[in-house]
Amino acid sequence: MCELKEVKGIGPKSLSLLNKININTVEDLVTHYPFRYDYLVRDNLNEIEDGGHIVIDGKIESVPILMRFKAGLNKMNFRLVTQSGVVGVSIFNRAFMKKDLEVGIGITVIGKYDKKKNIITASEIKLSPLSNKVKIEAVYHSTSGLTVKNLSTYINMALLMFGKKIPDYIPQRYIEKYNFVNKKTALNIVHNPPDDNKLQEAKYRLKYEELFQFMFKINYLKHENKKKNTGIKRDIDREKVNKFINGLSFKLTGDQLKAVDDIIKDLESSNRMNRLLQGDVGSGKTIVSFIAMYINSLCGYQSALMAPTEILATQHYNNLKQIFKDAGIEIALLTGSTLKKEKNEIYKSLENGSIDVVIGTHSLIQEDVNYSNLGLVITDEQHRFGVNQRGNLKNKGIMPDILYMSATPIPRTYALTIYGDMDTSIIKEKPVGRKPVLTYLKKNSEIKDVLSMMLEELKAHHQVYVIAPLIEDSESSGELATVLDLRDKMKLAFGEYFKIDIVHGKMASRAKELIMQEFQQNKIQILISTTVIEVGVDVPNATTMVIFDADRFGLSTLHQLRGRVGRGDSESRCILISDNDAKRLHVMEKESDGFKISEEDFKLRGHGDLFGTKQSGDMEFKIASLKDDYDILIKAKEDSEEYLLDEECKDELKENFIKSMNVNY
Ligand code: ADP
Ligand code: MG
Repeated sequence: MCELKEVKGIGPKSLSLLNKININTVEDLVTHYPFRYDYLVRDNLNEIEDGGHIVIDGKIESVPILMRFKAGLNKMNFRLVTQSGVVGVSIFNRAFMKKDLEVGIGITVIGKYDKKKNIITASEIKLSPLSNKVKIEAVYHSTSGLTVKNLSTYINMALLMFGKKIPDYIPQRYIEKYNFVNKKTALNIVHNPPDDNKLQEAKYRLKYEELFQFMFKINYLKHENKKKNTGIKRDIDREKVNKFINGLSFKLTGDQLKAVDDIIKDLESSNRMNRLLQGDVGSGKTIVSFIAMYINSLCGYQSALMAPTEILATQHYNNLKQIFKDAGIEIALLTGSTLKKEKNEIYKSLENGSIDVVIGTHSLIQEDVNYSNLGLVITDEQHRFGVNQRGNLKNKGIMPDILYMSATPIPRTYALTIYGDMDTSIIKEKPVGRKPVLTYLKKNSEIKDVLSMMLEELKAHHQVYVIAPLIEDSESSGELATVLDLRDKMKLAFGEYFKIDIVHGKMASRAKELIMQEFQQNKIQILISTTVIEVGVDVPNATTMVIFDADRFGLSTLHQLRGRVGRGDSESRCILISDNDAKRLHVMEKESDGFKISEEDFKLRGHGDLFGTKQSGDMEFKIASLKDDYDILIKAKEDSEEYLLDEECKDELKENFIKSMNVNY
C-alpha cells in the first residue's frame, strides 16, 4: 500500500495531524468515513438575503470570461440561468475549469449572493449537478488545525491517486451475487454522495464488507479451535472438586452444576476452552468461575479474572479470599489504584509463579504482565473484549483457556453471530428461595408512599439503593433527579436514624471502594448512586431499590439495576419513579426474565441499549453497527461461512484473511 505522504498535498504538518486522529495509511484515510451528512436544500434566488450563503442549480448561459491578475491569480465570470432567474457567477482561481464550463451544461454553484449586483461569488462549482433538490455534504471528525475541507481534499486526492489499489475484502463471488459496485466507486460515493439512493447502496456495500471480514474471523476461529489441540490437557481430581463444592455455604443449582461440568470437560480436553457463561443477573455465575479457578489451581496453573470496574474487582477479591481461605491459593488484586510498589511486587510474583490467582480490571490484559503459567482467563460482565484480542499476555508458551461471563441477555440470534465462535453454558435457574423482585411504578407526587416503603424495609434492618440519572444539577436544567439533591432529601427524611452516603463515577476509585465496603458491611443503610452500581455489585441484605426518573434508562439497564436487589432470601422491591408514562416501564412491572425484557426492548426501541454506547475491542466497526445492521450481519455470517468451508476455494483473499489471523491469544 502506498504511504500517506505520497498523497499530493499532504506535507509533514498535515501528516502529523492525520496521525493524531489515527490515520496512518492511505487505507485509513479513505476509510475515515463521514460521521454525518448535511443535506443542503437548494436555494431560490429570491429567498436569499444580501450576502447570504447560496446553493443553486442552473445552466451556463454565457461563455466564461477569464481574467488573469498578477501573482498568478485569476477570475472567471459567466451567466447562469436558474429556475428563479438569471444570475452572474464569478469564481476565483479556477482557470483550469474553463474548458469544462461549456454553455448549456448544468452545474451547481455554492457561494455568497450579492443581491444588489445579482452576482454569486462562488466558492465551489460542481460540474455534475446533483439530481435531487438537495446537496449532500459529508462531515468528518477532525482535529484542530485540520479543517474538514482539508480532510475531504486529502481523501479525494488519495482516492484519485490510489483508489484502485485500496484492497477489497469481499470475495468476487459475493460482489457478483449482490451486484456490488467496486470498492473505489463505493468509497467515492460515501465521501461525495451524488444522491441518497446511491449513498445508501454504497454504505450497504462497505458495511457488508466490514461485517464479512468480522464474521470470517469468528468462523475461522471457531473452526480452528475445534481442529487444533492447542489447549491445556488437565488431570482433574474430581473428588477434591466435589469436596470443595460441598463445602460451600449453599447448594449449587442444577444449571450451575451443569456449567461446572461443561467447564471441567473443557479443562480436561486438549482443545482450548472458549466458553461463554450466560445467566441472568443474580443467577450465580461468579461461584461457577471461582470453581473453575479452583480446579485450575489444583492442576498447577495460574488464573486471571478480569472485571469491568474496580468496585467489582474488589468485591470478587474479597469473596474469593473468603472462599479460598483454606485452599492454600495465593490471590492478588491488581487495579488502577494499586500502588506502584505493590504492583511491581505482584508482577514479580506472577512471573515467578508465587501468585496463583490475580483479579483485576481489564487493564490486566493490556499491561505488560508476564505470567509463569497462566492456564485460565476469565472476564466478567463484559461483552467479549475482541475476537482475536492478543493483548500483552506474556505466557510461557501455553495458551490459556478462556471463560466469558455475561448477564447481558442478548437475543439468541445475536449471540449466535457475535459469540458464534464460542461454546455456551446458560444458567436459567435462580438459586432456590429467590422471589421475583416486586416492581412498582410511581409518580413523583407519590413520593410519600415511596418513603414509607423505604422506612418499612429500613426498620426491618434491610438496606436501600437509590438511583438518580445525574450526579449534580449543573448537568441539566434542574428537571432530573440528582445524586447530590437526593442525598439532601434523604437526609431530611431518614438522616436521624440511618446512615446515608453516595457513590458516583466522578469519585476517586479508592473512595468508591470504601463506600461500597461500608455498604456491604451495613455501615451505610441508604446508598445513593448513579448507574455505577449497575454491574455485578452483590449486597444480599439490600432489598429495596428506588430509581428516580426511570424513563431515562433503557430496559436492559433497568433490569441490571434491579438485579442488585433480590439477591438473598428476603422479598425485595424495586420502585420506578417517573412522571412520563413510558410504555417501557410497564414491561418492567410484569416481566422479570432478562431475556424477555431484552426482546421487548428490541421490539420497542430497535436494538436498544444492548451494546451500550461503546462496543469493546474488535467490536468497533468503522461503518457497520451491530445495533442497526443486523440483516447485513446475517448475510455476512452465512456467506463467510460458506466461503470458509468451501475447500475448493483457495483464492488469494482467503489466504490473506487467514494469514492476518495470527491468533496467539
Ligand atoms: P451474577 O450471576 O449476577 O453474577 P452472583 O454470582 O453475584 O450473580 O450471585 C448472586 C448471589 O447469589 C450471590 O450473593 C451469591 O453468593 C448467591 N448464590 C450464588 N449461587 C447460589 C446458590 N446456588 N444458592 C444460593 N445463593 C447463591
Ligand atoms: Mg456477576
